[in-house]
Amino acid sequence: MEIEVIKVRLPLENAPDFANVYLVDTSTNPVLIDAGFISNEHAEELYEKVGNIKDVLITHHHIDHVGLVFWKEIDAYMNENDVKFLEMYVNPKRFFKPYMDWMDKYGIEFEFIKPLASALTTESKKQKMEIRAKVNCLIDEIFGFNVIFTPGHSPGHVCFYKDKLLFAGDLVLSDTTTHVGYYPEYSQNPMKDQIESLNKLLNLEIDVIYPAHEKTIKNPEKRISELIEHYRSRIDEVFQVLDEKPMKAVEVAEKVSWHRNFNELKGWDKLLAIGETLACLKYLVDEGKIKEVIINNTIGFSKI
Ligand SMILES: [Zn+2]
Repeated sequence: MEIEVIKVRLPLENAPDFANVYLVDTSTNPVLIDAGFISNEHAEELYEKVGNIKDVLITHHHIDHVGLVFWKEIDAYMNENDVKFLEMYVNPKRFFKPYMDWMDKYGIEFEFIKPLASALTTESKKQKMEIRAKVNCLIDEIFGFNVIFTPGHSPGHVCFYKDKLLFAGDLVLSDTTTHVGYYPEYSQNPMKDQIESLNKLLNLEIDVIYPAHEKTIKNPEKRISELIEHYRSRIDEVFQVLDEKPMKAVEVAEKVSWHRNFNELKGWDKLLAIGETLACLKYLVDEGKIKEVIINNTIGFSKI
């Protein structure tokens, strides 16, 4: 199996500089793993490099992994949970309504959501976004790859596994830790999903991990264990910073030690920090260590 890595530059602020797209020559046909950034310009540039590719496997629906889907008549393969999110690039407004209603419930103000809103609408303002690919839902196996269902970072995140090599999407990165998203209509406990997804990988025999950002990982077991440890200690920290009095998710996020102080985080990072705090809080609720309480008509959290 020949593997070529294509580095796709990303125009996002406070996000990785590059996404890795892999051109993999299997014994049957060449496939691409992930589809780059969603702008037309990025898609054209990528398509030129990979030349007439037909089959594209996609790890998850985020803006930096689905580009070709909107611009080329390829066959794309994704988990069904994430297929539904493609709609948000075509029609951001329809997507925002339930998202903002849910943020409202937890007292999270609109200013925190602005960076997400602008990232999604920037491309659709420039040109008409339309799904041009034929999008297929993944089953357990495709083109000789085992499809490993690994929700957490997104509800339908998957990894592709073949010949002891793992294409891990954003689940395992070499240097940074992946954000665990909270998607109201899906799992109520995405942090648990993320830890379970990582544990699932520990059961596979993996020689090398090819992540969707950063560097190839040659010590998979060590890195996966570090990540499990990271999420566990973040959950512990969220529990520790909770006061005796009920707190809102944003108040908890302000007290957690992110890579820098919460108030110094830039817009996009702030939203991610709040989302991950909420994921930790939901995990603790599920474990019976804390409970949801009402604070001024919004949902907050308190120790039991
Ligand atoms: Zn990504």
